[in-house]
Amino acid sequence: MTTPALSLDQIAERLQGYDPQALSASQVNAFLAQLVQPVREQETVPLMQAHGRILAHDVVSPISVPPHDNSAMDGYALRGADLLSDRPCPLTVVGTAFAGAAWQGTVGAGECVRIMTGAIMPVGLDTVAPQELVQTEGETVRVPPGMLLPGDNRRLLGEDLMAGQPALRAGTRLSPAACGLLASLGLPTATVWRRPKVAYFSTGDEILSLGQAPREGAVYDSNRYTVAGLVQALGCELIDMGVVRDDPAALEQAFVDAAAQAEAIITSGGVSVGEADHTKAMMKKLGDVAFWRIAMRPGRPMAVGRITQGDRSAVLFGLPGNPVAVMVTFAAFVRPALQRLMGWQAPALPLLKAKSTEALRKKPGRTEYQRGIVSTNAAGELQVNITGNQGSGVLSSMVQANGLIVLGHAQGNVAVGDAVDVMMFDGHL
Ligand code: AMP
Ligand code: MG
Repeated sequence: MTTPALSLDQIAERLQGYDPQALSASQVNAFLAQLVQPVREQETVPLMQAHGRILAHDVVSPISVPPHDNSAMDGYALRGADLLSDRPCPLTVVGTAFAGAAWQGTVGAGECVRIMTGAIMPVGLDTVAPQELVQTEGETVRVPPGMLLPGDNRRLLGEDLMAGQPALRAGTRLSPAACGLLASLGLPTATVWRRPKVAYFSTGDEILSLGQAPREGAVYDSNRYTVAGLVQALGCELIDMGVVRDDPAALEQAFVDAAAQAEAIITSGGVSVGEADHTKAMMKKLGDVAFWRIAMRPGRPMAVGRITQGDRSAVLFGLPGNPVAVMVTFAAFVRPALQRLMGWQAPALPLLKAKSTEALRKKPGRTEYQRGIVSTNAAGELQVNITGNQGSGVLSSMVQANGLIVLGHAQGNVAVGDAVDVMMFDGHL
C-alpha cells in the first residue's frame, strides 16, 4: 500500500547539504525521488492499446517460444551425424515438412526431409541444409562438405522464452518489441498502471493565448505546447488548463481544480526571485512548497512541493517561464519524476560522449545544458557543436538541436576536441 508522504522538511532533513538557495542538479533529483510516489491503480487494456503503458506485474511466460524445434531456413532437414567432412553427403528426400503442421513420417539413415522456414523439425533430425547450399538430382540432394555443422539452421524450443520464465518485469514500458513479445506468448491484454494525470497551466499577465491579438510587451504562450508534447510523449494524461491570469482568485481556482483531478501539476512562470506576481504566494497558501535556486543554466528558479485539496494532493513542479528553461528542467527533473509517478522503472538515460567542435566557457559549481547537434566527423568519431544562440528564451536553437550537452557541476572550461557528455533527444524532446 502507499507509503505515507513525507513533508518537504522531512525530505530536506534526509538530504546531505540541502540548501534551497543552492541545490545541485543531482540533489534536485534525489529530493524529487522522495517526494513523488507512484500511482498504484491498475487497469487491464487490450494489447493493441498497450503501447507505451507501464506493466504493473511481472509477466511469466505461459508457453515456450518457439513451442518446437523448427527450421530457420527453407532447405533440407537432416541428421548432423550424416554429414561427411571430405566429400558431398548424398541424402534421399523422403518427404516435405511445411510450416504449421508436423510432418508425420519417419526418417532413416541417409535420408532427409525437404523443410520450410518455421516448420517443426521432423523427429530425429537436428540440422537444416539451406536450399541454396545443396545440389539436387531427382530425389537425391548432395550437401557439400565443410559448409554445415550439426545443429545449424535449427531454432530450439524455448530459445526465445521458456514456459515459466519471467518474460517482462513490472515497471517495464511496453515498447513495440515488448508488445510483440506479449503477443508471441498469446496474451491478448496487459495489466498496466493507470496513466498519471498531469495538469498544466501557464502563468503571467504578459502571456497571450493563441488567437489573441498581439500587443506590446506580450508574448505567445509557447510553454503550453512544449509541455503538452513532453507530458504526452512520456505517456501521462494531460489536463490542459491554458493561461491563468495573474490574479489571486484565478490562480487559486486553477490550483484547486488541478489538485482535485491530477496527480501532478506543472506550471510555468512566476517563480523567479523578485517576481511581482501572485503565483508564489498562492502556491505557498495552498500547499507545502519550496522555492529553489538550482545551480544550473538555464533554469535556475523552480518551485517544488505538494498542493493539497481535501484529501488529495498533487505534486507541484513550478517551472521557470523561459521556454528553453522549461524544456531543460523538464528533461533534467520533471521527466524522471513523472517516470516514477508512472511506475516506470526507467533505465537511466545513457549519456553519449562526443568531441566538442568548439571551446565552451563553463564555470565550475553549476550544471549547464547547451543545445547541440551531434554528428559523425570525417574520422568517424562523434562530434558535437552548439546550435547558435543559447539564450534561455531561444526556442529555434532547441528545434535545431538533437541533444543537450551536459556540462557537469564540477566541470570547468571545455577546449576544442574535449569529450563532453550529451543527453540525446530520443523523440521525447
Ligand atoms: P518568468 O519566469 O515569469 O520571470 O518568465 C521568464 C520569461 O519567460 C519572460 O520573458 C516571460 O515572458 C517568458 N515566459 C513566461 N511564460 C511563458 C510562456 N508560457 N510562453 C512563452 N514565454 C513565457
Ligand atoms: Mg513572470
